Amino acid sequence: MPELITRRTVLGAGLAAAGAVLLGDTAFSQQGTAPARRKVVVWSEGTAPKAVYPKDINTAIAAGLKGLRNWDVVTASLNDPDQGLNDELLKSADVIIWWGHKRHDEVKQELVAKIVKRVKEDGMGFIATHSAHYSKPLKQILGTNCGWNGYVNDGSKLQVIVKDSNHPIARGVKDFESPHTERYGDPFEVPKPEAFIFDGIYTHPDGTVEHSQQGMCWTIGKGRVFYFQPGHEDYPMYMQPEIQMIFRNAVRWAGPRRAPAAAPAAPADANKPA
Ligand code: ZN
Repeated sequence: MPELITRRTVLGAGLAAAGAVLLGDTAFSQQGTAPARRKVVVWSEGTAPKAVYPKDINTAIAAGLKGLRNWDVVTASLNDPDQGLNDELLKSADVIIWWGHKRHDEVKQELVAKIVKRVKEDGMGFIATHSAHYSKPLKQILGTNCGWNGYVNDGSKLQVIVKDSNHPIARGVKDFESPHTERYGDPFEVPKPEAFIFDGIYTHPDGTVEHSQQGMCWTIGKGRVFYFQPGHEDYPMYMQPEIQMIFRNAVRWAGPRRAPAAAPAAPADANKPA
């Protein structure tokens, strides 16, 4: 709602130093006119089958984020220099989306510590999906083992059920099905979520029906964290429109809310006697 922020308000708030002010989903530059860009980095480890994800999962998820207004979408890979996240990129990211599976151990603890700090202290959003439940960043952000009870890749059908339709991550999302997935079974070793947004029902190839949680979120320190279970690399789940909508909603929700900056503090008096 740009009309709520006048040029005078913005300038009066001393934003020359702060850079931008955010209201809801929209960011405004320090001039109070042009929207400021925000940034989501989509990271994956480069192990998805080329037949399903020719340019890996980061590129597929990023393609689904194109509808986000005023967001820059950047892909990063474990194969890139600095494991895809140099200090400059990490500092400029408002949200990171993480997909890993076979190469969790290769992610350097130094990088993980920086990610965790950005989430907890600076309010960067973090979204982990599918096998990233066992990623080092998610485990360290949540402080639990983050294991599921079982993992079966039998191509079960998944029905995703919107459990909390009032949550911003569920906005516009109706119950939907994915024809095949690898299923993770409850329970999930994580702290109690602040919202349990998506539930799920698996139908096994033999017709057995199994319940499993699909999407939940937390606020950890200043940062917002979302985990979404669907996304096994053998199936093109990240191309599915409903899942793409969930990721767009999750990015908007997870981005840090920057309150309008307060008036700058009075400058220190250099001549003040010690
Ligand atoms: Zn999987």
